[in-house]
Amino acid sequence: MSDALMTIYASLPVAFERGEGALLWDTEGNQYLDAISGIAVCGLGHAHPAVTKALCEQAAKLIHTSNLYQIPVQQQLAETLVMLSGMDRVFFGNSGAEANEAAIKLARLYGHGQDIDQPAIVVMENSFHGRTLATLTATGNRKVQAGFEPLVPGFVRVPYNDMEALQNVARHNPNIVAVLVEPVQGEGGVNIPEDDYLDNIRALCDEHHWLMMLDEIQTGMCRTGRWFCFQHGKGRPDVMTIAKALGNGVPIGACLARGKAAEVLQPGSHGSTFGGNPLACHVATTVIKTMQDQDLASRAEVLGKKFLRDLSSKLADNSHVTSVRGKGLMIGIELDMPCGDLVGIAMTRGMLINVTAETTIRLLPPLVITDEEADTIIDTVCSLINEFTADEQ
Ligand code: PLP
Repeated sequence: MSDALMTIYASLPVAFERGEGALLWDTEGNQYLDAISGIAVCGLGHAHPAVTKALCEQAAKLIHTSNLYQIPVQQQLAETLVMLSGMDRVFFGNSGAEANEAAIKLARLYGHGQDIDQPAIVVMENSFHGRTLATLTATGNRKVQAGFEPLVPGFVRVPYNDMEALQNVARHNPNIVAVLVEPVQGEGGVNIPEDDYLDNIRALCDEHHWLMMLDEIQTGMCRTGRWFCFQHGKGRPDVMTIAKALGNGVPIGACLARGKAAEVLQPGSHGSTFGGNPLACHVATTVIKTMQDQDLASRAEVLGKKFLRDLSSKLADNSHVTSVRGKGLMIGIELDMPCGDLVGIAMTRGMLINVTAETTIRLLPPLVITDEEADTIIDTVCSLINEFTADEQ
């Protein structure tokens, strides 16, 4: 690791040189099967020809102008996202954190519009929303916040998947203007709430005129078997944020809003230099078209069921495995012990996996993996877990 870099990341001692689909090759020529997709970013895998073509074509024409001018490809992407999500309007930024910042600002402005001087947003324990000051405050993980105090005021925290706690806040806090929640908590450990959780939040928000704001940064873009995870249920959010897989690695994030929420941000109230530039928007438009053409939402749903079925049966006899859970191709295997070391061990076997919340192995493979690659991931991960936990018995 170069001394010229800030020591922010505890990066593993490997560098990748090229990729193709779900495969990566490091600088020594070793091959890896990628079961994490750059943390849910490369849904279409690596070096997808359509993405490469879109990137090259647009780079040769025009990379950036400014939001001082019309950007037709940004308008086209917004219209596509609106059509897919049932939302009304879109703001483009460059990352997930920026998309959430836009949502948080929108909620505050909405609150002031209702004469609430100190608007507050309900957020969840074990959530993750980003690393900017407001989004790390919204994040329910002390490790992310520690040392950055004073944190941003205006957030109230409740346990995830707990409607009673939310109702209690509704009874006692007149300053609440919005709820910000992940449909499935990713960094928090692939935590899947009750089936009716989002619909119940929708009803509570309607009752109290709160904005329902979904962070779909990890769950969006077909990952869970729908374009957006909320589409498994009935209710639509007022605000939704996306990023990660939208650009398949080209930085882009978006904050989508609907109904009254879509009218809140006005000229001068928000902005971004790079956000929504022609390059990122042309690539994102291509990513969506490719996902549509290949019906990757259905593919993620079908493959996700296979993962759950096979992992559950192969790990059934391992008493250290406390849970196998998932939605589409967002899969968590929880152990009764810390298992961060598995990431490095998996790498020596040519497989990239992730461990989050200390005890949960997280799989987020590219949505384009083949059946054979899925089988290889399942077999390798089960062997790794069985060997790792055998040392403990
Ligand atoms: N929200 C969720 C649910 C995430 O998983 C992440 C990143 O992991 C973020 C927000 C932050 O996104 P970014 O790192 O692009 O700022």
